[in-house]
Amino acid sequence: MSSTAKHQKAPNNANSKLLVRIIIALVLGSALGMILPQNFMIGDMSLVSIITPFGDLFVRLLKMIMVPIIICSLIIGSSSISPDKLGRVGGKAILFYAITTLISIALGLACASIFSPGLGLDLSDASKAVEKAANAPSMGQILLNIIPTNPFDSIAKGDILPIIAFCLFFGIGLAYCRASEDERIKNSANTVYSFFDGMSEIMFKIVRWVMLYAPIGVFALMFVVFNKSGAAAFSSLLNVTVTYFLGLIVMILVVYSAVCMLIGLSPLTFLKKVRPAMLTAFVTRSSNGTLPITMQCAENMGIPKSVYGFVLPVGATVNMNGTTIYLGVCTLFIANACGIPLTGSDYFTIVITSMLAAIGTAGVPGAGALMLLLVLESVGIKVSGSVAIAYGMILGIDSILDMGRTWMNVTGDAVASVYVAKTEKELDIEQWNS
Ligand code: ASP
Repeated sequence: MSSTAKHQKAPNNANSKLLVRIIIALVLGSALGMILPQNFMIGDMSLVSIITPFGDLFVRLLKMIMVPIIICSLIIGSSSISPDKLGRVGGKAILFYAITTLISIALGLACASIFSPGLGLDLSDASKAVEKAANAPSMGQILLNIIPTNPFDSIAKGDILPIIAFCLFFGIGLAYCRASEDERIKNSANTVYSFFDGMSEIMFKIVRWVMLYAPIGVFALMFVVFNKSGAAAFSSLLNVTVTYFLGLIVMILVVYSAVCMLIGLSPLTFLKKVRPAMLTAFVTRSSNGTLPITMQCAENMGIPKSVYGFVLPVGATVNMNGTTIYLGVCTLFIANACGIPLTGSDYFTIVITSMLAAIGTAGVPGAGALMLLLVLESVGIKVSGSVAIAYGMILGIDSILDMGRTWMNVTGDAVASVYVAKTEKELDIEQWNS
């Protein structure tokens, strides 16, 4: 979320208590699911059929807030890029963000294609509810369909890409109106901004309520999947985690290092100087929360405030390289686990949706997991039945994945500010080398 619109924070100890509860639920649900036989009966009902609705309820609650949250987050996110700052430095940063985001999505998809997490888990017969669009549209059609003919119709139908496109137009239009010299336009635009800011706060309040139910939901989803798939589920989760972290490491060691070398700077110095921000991001799981530390690191690197003061807050809002790697890896994991084949145009849609979803991902813990729902729906994978179970597995380990996501998101913002400062000849080399 933008630096101007910070979400109300849940107290830290409340967050960590919830995290502990979710992890306990994950372990208990998995262990019980594995220990108890599949046909364990209570009266004339199987235990699995009693527990399943509790997991479904959790997924329904998350889906309930998905569209409103995208709308608010995207409008607030895209309107945070104020036009008067969008000069040379701003344009360069945005272009850099777009290119690294594209690379990170491709990397996530490549890693998931090589290691095929979820393959062999076979959740496909867990339910008949897997729906997949039968006739995949061509790439040209996908691009054309991004523009809605009636945005309200798209919202009602939950058509994700057109909703995103409309919100981006709306947000950028809002940013221009807020910067208007005409007092009337400026005031009414600020009122609209406050409205969406308030809506966004309300949505995140609801997310926090839903998360209070998360331990029960995660327990139920884990129980169902481990009762059905046992050890295969465990190795799949391990595979998806390893694949994901591998993607992150390649991004840092290859892509970010290459950026540093291209502009004549040592990647090792960068990694050394950005370490405090990386560590803070890893433990807080919030790009927004880490922002003051990231700024301190930038200062330490010799980047002027005029550069990092714009590049870092915007990056914390729209640049989410870790989240996009996660979206690619986890979408393929779920498709593999549920036996859903993906076509070339599905991959293309995943790239486009992930790119846009990154802009709508708030820099707060767990935000990326909601965006995964959005990417799944955009390729016609309905989140119910076996897909909901596979999604629940990912949610069960979300805290671990989120640590990696945030770590990478923040590092991506820092490397962008180094790039902009150096190429604009504004980097204080003495400070960088100190
Ligand atoms: N927690 C991440 C961040 O703050 C966002 C996400 O959940 O992907 O950057």
